[in-house]
Amino acid sequence: MILTDTHTHLYSEAFDDDRDEVIARAIKQGVQRFFIPAIDSTYTDAMLRLKSAYPKHIFLMAGLHPTHVKEDFENELAHVEDLLKKHTYYAIGEIGIDLFWDKTFLKQQQIAFKKQIQLAKKHKLPIIIHCRDAFDEVFEVLEDEKSDDLFGIFHCFTGNFKQAQKTIGYGMKLGIGGVVTFKNGKIDAFLNQIPLKHIVLETDSPYLAPVPYRGKRNESLYLLEIINTLASIYAKPVAEIAAITTQNSKEIFGI
Ligand SMILES: [Zn+2]
Repeated sequence: MILTDTHTHLYSEAFDDDRDEVIARAIKQGVQRFFIPAIDSTYTDAMLRLKSAYPKHIFLMAGLHPTHVKEDFENELAHVEDLLKKHTYYAIGEIGIDLFWDKTFLKQQQIAFKKQIQLAKKHKLPIIIHCRDAFDEVFEVLEDEKSDDLFGIFHCFTGNFKQAQKTIGYGMKLGIGGVVTFKNGKIDAFLNQIPLKHIVLETDSPYLAPVPYRGKRNESLYLLEIINTLASIYAKPVAEIAAITTQNSKEIFGI
């Protein structure tokens, strides 16, 4: 069984003391593919170090996270473009709109999101969307940019059934993580109406740990809790869900 964590910030300071152990225990239990979303240029070196340490397991993305879009976002986008020329990246992410923390830079967030979608299309790469308190704003940009070459993952999907269908309509798979194990998470109520071909797994570690680790540091090994919950939602064996979701991740990332 090979599981794919399509969204983990393994380069985070939260793993500085035991990163190798965290990776080793995940790999031992079958979580063997780690896709690494970017945040901003301050993490570039740490991400590249991670990739050289684990070239067969680590797959990097390039991008500017919406909560890090500030006045200087044009410089950050130039950095992303520069990285795409120098190294191999498997997606543009994570990108999108976040109005939960701060609405000051909404306009800049919208521009940065749009520009990065266009960059993804130019490089024939998928996008990884981060959306918090901003479904309408994200859909507005996707509506403008929708096309055959727009595809990717809507990371940490927490919307309703209608929003799920709309998201899939834009060429996105739904990234399902710890929230599916939460009692008040809500997506468990309709998820079994969404065919598994539209689902990929993610931890978003070190954030959003699933039950029974909720509130603690998350790590890729806990993908097992997420897949167990999906097994009961879909009434299918874990091995089948692992196979389908890993295949879905291969379709998206091309590896
Ligand atoms: Zn993330």
